[in-house]
Amino acid sequence: MNKTESKNILIKGGKIIDPVKGTEFASDIYIKDGIVAEVGKNIKAGSGMVKIDAKGLVVSPGFVDMHVHLRDPGFEDKETIESGALAAVKGGITAIACMPNTRPAIDSEHAVKYVLEKSEGAACRVYPVAAMTRGLEGKEITEMGLLSEEGAVGFSDDGKCVGDSRLMYEIMRYSTQFGLPLILHEEDILMSADGQMHEGRYSSMLGMEGISSLSDDLMIARDIILAARSGAKIHITHLSTKGGVEMIRKAKKDGIDVTCDVTPHHLFFNDSFLTSFNTNLKVKPPVRSEGDRQALVRGIKEGVIDAVASDHAPHLGTEKNTTFKLAEFGTIGLETLFSAAFSKLCIEEKMSLPGLIRLITASPAKILGIDAGKIEVGRLADITVIDTGAGKIVKREDFISKSKNSAFIGQKLQGRVVCTISRGKLIYRSD
Ligand SMILES: [Zn+2]
Ligand SMILES: [Zn+2]
Repeated sequence: MNKTESKNILIKGGKIIDPVKGTEFASDIYIKDGIVAEVGKNIKAGSGMVKIDAKGLVVSPGFVDMHVHLRDPGFEDKETIESGALAAVKGGITAIACMPNTRPAIDSEHAVKYVLEKSEGAACRVYPVAAMTRGLEGKEITEMGLLSEEGAVGFSDDGKCVGDSRLMYEIMRYSTQFGLPLILHEEDILMSADGQMHEGRYSSMLGMEGISSLSDDLMIARDIILAARSGAKIHITHLSTKGGVEMIRKAKKDGIDVTCDVTPHHLFFNDSFLTSFNTNLKVKPPVRSEGDRQALVRGIKEGVIDAVASDHAPHLGTEKNTTFKLAEFGTIGLETLFSAAFSKLCIEEKMSLPGLIRLITASPAKILGIDAGKIEVGRLADITVIDTGAGKIVKREDFISKSKNSAFIGQKLQGRVVCTISRGKLIYRSD
C-alpha cells in the first residue's frame, strides 16, 4: 500500500472503458486537483504531475460494491470503516454500500450519521444501508423517512430475512414513499434451520445438515409477489439458486421493479469444494450445486443479474479456525472482487470486459441511486487501473483487511488492480 495521495495525475496510454456505452477507447486522462480535467489523446505531462504509465493497461471507473459488512460500530476487531475502505481501494473499489448489522444496528438517524461522519476521511466513499426493522429483529419498521433524509441509500435486514409476510408487505408499501431499494437477504429460516451447506449430493456424502435452495426460492417468490402488489423497488442480494434466476427473469418481464446481484464466490465455487471442509467457504446463502452456479453465470450473460457484489463478511481467525459446524458464515471479498469475477466471467466464460465492468460500476450505482461508476470531465476522479494480463495465486498474507477469511486463498486469479484513484487522490499503487 503506497499512500501517496497525489491530486495532479496523468494517466497515459491506457484503454478506457465506458461501462454505460459498453465501449473501449485509447486515451489519456489528466486529473487536476483531484478533478478529471481532460480526457483525450497526447496530453503532455507537466511539472508536479504524477504520471501513471497505463500502456497495455485498462482504465475503468472506480468499482462500486453494493454489499459490504464493515463491522463498525461494535465489532472493530474484525473490520472498521477505515480498514474496510482501504481494503476496498486495494481491490479497485471507490464506493461501497455498508450493511446495517452492526452493534448498535444502523437503524437510527444517529447511526446513519455515525457512518457518514466516520467515513468522511475514509479511503473511499461509504454509503450506509439502513435497517428495515429495528435491531433487525423483524418486528417493527424503522423510521425509513428520517433514515433516508439522513443519507441512507437503501434498506436491508441483511443477515436476516423478515419472516412475517404481513410486516414485509407493510415495509414494501411504506418504502414506495422514498424510492430507495429494499435489499433483500432471502432465507426461510425454518427451512434453512441448522444447515451448514447446500443440501444435495455433497451434504449427504459429508453428513452435514443442508440448506435447501427452497429456503431462498420461497422467499424470493414471496417478495416478488409482494413487490408486484405494492409497487416497491426490491433488490435481491447474493442470489444463489437457479430457481431465483428464473423467477427474477420472469418478474422483470412482467414489469416488476426488481434487480439482483450475485457474489464472486457463488460464481466461482460449487458445493463440491466443501469436501475440503474449508470454513472460509462456509457462507450464507451457501455455494450451491454446479447447476445453480451455471444458472448464475447464464443469468449474468443474459442480463437477468444486474450487479456483482462481494458480501465482504470479515470474521476473526478464532471464528473460522474451528470445526465446520461452529464456524461463522461469510468470506471477505473486497480485495478479490474484480480478479475473481474477471477470472470466472471474462477468462473462462468469455464475457466482454466492458460487460463485467458495468456490473461493478454503473449498474450498482444506478440501483443505489448514487453518483458513481463513471469517468466524466469536471467530476472528482474515481478511477481504477487494471492489468488484465497479470495473475497470481491468492495468499493469506496478501490481504490488508483486518480479517483474513477469504474463500479464494489458494486459488489462481487473473487480473490485478495496478492503482486506484479514489475521491480525487491516488491512494493505492501496487508495487
Ligand atoms: Zn445476506
Ligand atoms: Zn451480507
